[in-house]
Amino acid sequence: MDLSNKVAIVTGSGRGIGRAIALKLAEAGASVVVNDIEAKTVESVVGEIKAMGRSGLAVLADVSSAEDVKRLVEGAVSTYGRVDILVNNAGITRDRLLLRMTDEDWDRVLNVNLKGVFLTTRAALKYMVKQRWGRIISLSSIVGLVGNPGQANYASAKAGIIGFTRTVAKEVASRGITANAIAPGFIDTEMTENLEENLRQEVRKRIPLGYFGLPRDVAEAVAFLASEEARYITGQVLGVDGGMAISWL
Ligand code: NAP
Repeated sequence: MDLSNKVAIVTGSGRGIGRAIALKLAEAGASVVVNDIEAKTVESVVGEIKAMGRSGLAVLADVSSAEDVKRLVEGAVSTYGRVDILVNNAGITRDRLLLRMTDEDWDRVLNVNLKGVFLTTRAALKYMVKQRWGRIISLSSIVGLVGNPGQANYASAKAGIIGFTRTVAKEVASRGITANAIAPGFIDTEMTENLEENLRQEVRKRIPLGYFGLPRDVAEAVAFLASEEARYITGQVLGVDGGMAISWL
């Protein structure tokens, strides 16, 4: 996959899956805007990108804030002159069974995980539409497809991303822009490291391939969807889950 001369924004890319995506896109030749809310992590990922001989730009921004998102996308355009690839990766969890879930738990997860995708996509599309080329790739989750106790807020946001993606795909197809979602299963990152060992074992039993994925597994799929080779794929939800979703069928 050759992403030379492409400019990518990856939200929430200071660590975990987002970091792996930023590094993979840079490895494929893209200039990458690394975003997060923590200065230390974004600077370190930009350092890794520069060490590869590629270009990276750190922009601290909270994806749930329209003002921050405007600054993020305009920062990319003022530095690189364009934005070709947007990866909506930033995400959080606030898990609690529904009867105990607070309004704050609901609002924060929906604001970061779903409103953030709306704000960032809207801001980036403005430029992609003029360029008549673009790739929007949003991180949904297997939980958005099958649900998960304790994650009503997260599952709703991740299911919302799928409806959003299919709608955007229809709205902008005529402009040479594709929009797809990725639904990871269980990937080894800080988001999943706190699972208790007995729960990890239970989850592993439900994964046909028998192990948790790595951030790199998701990054490879993102790089493909971002490439010219994936030009005829839009409005899709790609599972990167070791076969976990089919074990529910
Ligand atoms: P992670 O390790 O918790 O990393 C999340 C990243 O998002 C961090 O860099 C975090 O920044 C950033 N972030 C959080 N809130 C933000 C905000 N308001 N604005 C900008 N950045 C923000 O998560 P992950 O496991 O890599 O997950 C990445 C994506 O994949 C998420 O959308 C997640 O829901 C999805 N996913 C993950 C799994 C899994 O098994 N890990 C499975 C399915 C889907 P800080 O470092 O500053 O907190």
